[in-house]
Amino acid sequence: MESVLEDRDRVGVADAILLEDFKNVEAFCDNLHKRYMRNIIYTYIGQVLVTVNPYKDLGLYTDAAMETYRRANFYQVPPSVFAIAETAFRSMIAENEDQCILISGESGAGKTEASKQILRYVAAATLHQHEIDHVRDRLLKSNPVLEAFGNAKTNRNDNSSRFGKYMDIECNFKGDPLGGHILNYLLEKSRVVHQENGERNFHVFYQLLAGSSEEVLAKLHLTRDPADYHYLRQGNSSRLTSVDDKSEFEKVLTALKVIEFGDDEITSINNIVAAILHMGNIIFTANDEGNAIINSSPEIKHTSELLSCSESTLTAALTHRTIEARDDIVCSPLSVEQAQHCRDALAKSTYERLFNWLVERLNASLRSTDKAKKTLFGILDIYGFEIFERNGYEQFCINYCNEKLQQVFIELTLRSEQEEYRREGIVWEQVPYFDNKIICDLVEEKHKGIISVMDEECLRPGDATDLTLLAKLNAQLGKHDHFSSYETVDINDKQKKTFGNEEFRLRHYAGEVSYNIRGFLDKNNDLLYRDLKQTMTESGNPILAKVFPKKELVAKKRPVTAATQFKLSLSKLMDILMSKQPSYIRCIKPNEHKRALDFNRELVTHQVKYLGLMENLRVRRAGFAYRRNYEIFLERYKSLCPKTWPNFKGPAKDGVQHLVESLKFSADEYRMGNTKIFIRLPKTLFRTEDAYQVRK
Ligand code: ADP
Ligand code: MG
Repeated sequence: MESVLEDRDRVGVADAILLEDFKNVEAFCDNLHKRYMRNIIYTYIGQVLVTVNPYKDLGLYTDAAMETYRRANFYQVPPSVFAIAETAFRSMIAENEDQCILISGESGAGKTEASKQILRYVAAATLHQHEIDHVRDRLLKSNPVLEAFGNAKTNRNDNSSRFGKYMDIECNFKGDPLGGHILNYLLEKSRVVHQENGERNFHVFYQLLAGSSEEVLAKLHLTRDPADYHYLRQGNSSRLTSVDDKSEFEKVLTALKVIEFGDDEITSINNIVAAILHMGNIIFTANDEGNAIINSSPEIKHTSELLSCSESTLTAALTHRTIEARDDIVCSPLSVEQAQHCRDALAKSTYERLFNWLVERLNASLRSTDKAKKTLFGILDIYGFEIFERNGYEQFCINYCNEKLQQVFIELTLRSEQEEYRREGIVWEQVPYFDNKIICDLVEEKHKGIISVMDEECLRPGDATDLTLLAKLNAQLGKHDHFSSYETVDINDKQKKTFGNEEFRLRHYAGEVSYNIRGFLDKNNDLLYRDLKQTMTESGNPILAKVFPKKELVAKKRPVTAATQFKLSLSKLMDILMSKQPSYIRCIKPNEHKRALDFNRELVTHQVKYLGLMENLRVRRAGFAYRRNYEIFLERYKSLCPKTWPNFKGPAKDGVQHLVESLKFSADEYRMGNTKIFIRLPKTLFRTEDAYQVRK
């Protein structure tokens, strides 16, 4: 019982709110470190779970382990993802309230592994029945499919998710899964055409090459060797030691079967994936006028065949650009560089749309046919804060997303604290905290924020470039407290020399990040020339025909920019999260080498800061550090008071009242709520716990 209190000398405290010096990041990391070296990777901050990636199998996720958490009381079992899942699941059933588990942390910290264990726990929660098993299988099998298309080897993680994912499991009143729904965010599509040294493209490309039969391979005109493809060889790292592409592909195919993808659908998918590989090998050369022409004939032939579109149309679309101006149609040739850019844009766009189609297709098969009222159990696995040597447009979007999530976190944590005080009839004590709304506004405010300025610059005809964008940001936002750049910093400021002149810097809640402006306009514009779109709308491949709808061609309005689209989808996500009962899992990566039992203090401290854990701890500790139901408290400590030992007859609250009087708690040390005792400082609790240990 009270496993969070036990053994604190040996393995630290299981709940960081019990740390004496709770404002001290050193003390917090000490505690994590101590536990980690004993293979204890989980620690709480109140109800928030902090995990440190063990990089080895600790045998924590067996079916037997899962069973110990079923119906167990949160504080009586060791901290675990299962405890978080169990608590949320029980409260979903008992209170009929939608839940969501928010998992955050940097790449490689263990988010996706945690989300899989949660899904497993919820899927296994109920009895086996034919219908439900069917849904359960599909929910579980959606993972390998999405991972094949959305994950890749990076220098940080061999199986890094390159998209954000939110999944709802729809349950009936007993908690049986009836269906599900997936939302995806911001796929890193630039990876399709470019990989950093040591990294790979999305898994599916290698899987297709390694896992297809000779017959399929021949139909797709592919060879087995990834090095034959421009889009696969830039990272110089096509082999993965930790996974076998061939057997992974078999798993994906099995999963697709379970989800009832038809053979024709699988062929359409393979054709698109293969076409992208051939597309990357198309080489452009300049003719006498300096215009791009294609003379790599097998590649364009295979590409157009697999995309089911006409070779001549595709060739023309890759080397020309048609502009409609009033009544005139002007078709101008492209330079080699422009044509390459066009080709890459087509590859990225095709892959992204295929991915979106896949998510929709999974959703169609997860859609519940049951009319019963459903309660939702959501799991959010989304990129954490990113601060690299060089930060670009992607980091800007990801960090903006984290600012928004921090807002939800603050609002929901404070709200739930307030609610508990109210429920318990205790006077609310104001908690001071930093509201990061000011930074969210800086990014997203209409007409004023960075996204608006960026969109304006994207729309401006003529000579807009990344640098004119930076100048505009400087002019409009230079005075903002959280924005700075070389231009806006005072000449006498010691910091000035740390700024590059192509950068702007944002002071995020988690720390300062410098963003390099190069590529912002292009990535935000995210344009695919009309010629290419038109070609794709005419495709005979059913998936392509669907994801490149003809109506896009007649649309009068310019498509929304990438950032605005992201902003809109985030705003929807916020609404979803706000309407649910949240639980949090914060993942930490202990070292950069994917090594077990290697705890890099500096690296961990950095993450603790930018996950906002100290702020979190402060908010939780601002009022009362510890609270327990009267029954549980009395049961543990009844031996410390003659009036409650061996048994107390009356209501537990009265028993606890006797107990605290006999233990001489001072008036400010505690409050008596309706169902719980609230204790302000850990030392009061430890005094009691030590007395109990002596007695025992
Ligand atoms: P993220 O999604 O945060 O980028 P992952 O969940 O993919 O990180 O974890 C990266 C790798 O770390 C996994 O492939 C696995 O090898 C290891 N790992 C993560 N969590 C655990 C865990 N709880 N136990 C054992 N290994 C883990
Ligand atoms: Mg992941």
